[in-house]
Parts: sequence; structure tokens; C-alpha cells
Amino acid sequence: MRIVMLGPPGAGKGTQAQILEQRFNVWQISTGDLLRMNRSEGTPLGKQASEYMDRGALVPDSLIIAMVEGALGGVDSFILDGFPRTVPQAQALDTLLEQLALPLDAVILFQAAREDLLARLTARWINPRTGRSYNTITMPPRTPGIDDDDGGPLEQRVDDQLETAKNRLDVYEAQTAALIEYYRGSGKLVEVDALAEVSVVTHAILSGVQKLMGVVS
Ligand code: AMP
Repeated sequence: MRIVMLGPPGAGKGTQAQILEQRFNVWQISTGDLLRMNRSEGTPLGKQASEYMDRGALVPDSLIIAMVEGALGGVDSFILDGFPRTVPQAQALDTLLEQLALPLDAVILFQAAREDLLARLTARWINPRTGRSYNTITMPPRTPGIDDDDGGPLEQRVDDQLETAKNRLDVYEAQTAALIEYYRGSGKLVEVDALAEVSVVTHAILSGVQKLMGVVS
């Protein structure tokens, strides 16, 4: 199985990629996770990527493409989460997969309205003293902005804050949404309602992939 997860931040691509990874034993490659790992290990790539990530901007294509080429070496089954995000990245992926004679099976497009995505992206609040995490939609604190246990203030991570979240969605619309047309022409696009329940989304992905591949059980 070779799949690309395409869609805006907050749409649940990572959640679905993890579910499919466990179910089908394929490797999930998340460029966001790889970058965060590089950043926490203080590698040269992590240092270069850091300021782009904090702004919610895209890390330059050349850095990302080299990183993905490294990650895909020796792998013939994968779920790509968060890559490609620009047309040059998609072209580089096509070239690489052509060289490896490993065509994509499907591109899953997660659809959701901007307002719903903003609500999801900004829903996470954390108690910085204990690490306890809340979700203002699914698991809110008793008093907004206040921790249930110690009564102190809750905080948001920088990239969950409203302005950064808006910026990440703007970047998606400006640079990544063009990939929808890029892939539509290939006949491999599977469109799913990203706001449906997690298990419903998984089912929609699998039946779409099954139609294209005819072999997934
Ligand atoms: P994510 O966890 O996928 O939202 O990625 C977090 C951040 O990593 C993004 O806001 C970008 O700064 C960077 N990033 C991840 N994947 C890519 C990519 N394919 N191209 C450029 N930047 C990326």
C-alpha cells in the first residue's frame, strides 16, 4: 500500500495514518514528526527548519525533498502524512517513485471547512505546570482557561495559537490546495469528510482505496 494523505492542518491526517499503519503494518512517514525529531535532536536540518515551523510557514522544498528521499530509501509500502505540500514536492515524489518503480495507489483528500479546522487546531490547552492537556471541544476544563486540579492558568502551544493556526491554514490554501488538481488528473484521489467520526473516516478511506486497488481487506 502506497498512500498520500492530503488535506489541511487539523483535518486528522495523522490520526488516520496511525490507524492504517497499525492495521496494515505499513510505515507512516510524517514530515512534521521527522522535522520535530530533528529539531529536538538539534541536527543542522532541525535548526534550519525551526524558525519556519514556529511561524507555521513551509520549510524550503530542497530540505524537505532530501529528507523524504532519505526516509523512503528501501521502503516499498508507506503512508505519507504532510508530504507533498507543494507542486515541486509532488513532482519530486513522482520522479522518485518512478525511478523506484513504485507507483502511488491512492491520494486521500481530507475535506473540512476552515472554521471547523480553526476550532480544532486551537482547541488544545495545557497546564504548563503538570502537562495535563485539555481539548475545549471534546474535554474542556470546568472553567475556561483554568486547570481543574490546581486552579492555575492554562496555556496554548505556540503553533496551536489562533494567529499561527490561521497562518497554517492560509499556507495550505495558498501552496498546498493546488495539489488537489494535480492529483485529480491521476484518477487516484479519494475524497473523505474529515469531520466525520474517526471510524467513519477510516472506513471511507479503506473503501476508496479498495476500489482503486481491489486488494485491501
Ligand atoms: P505538521 O505536523 O505536518 O503540521 O508539520 C509541522 C510543520 O512542519 C509545518 O507547519 C511546516 O513548517 C513543517 N512541514 C512539515 N511538512 C512539510 C512539508 N512537506 N513541506 C514544508 N514544510 C513542512
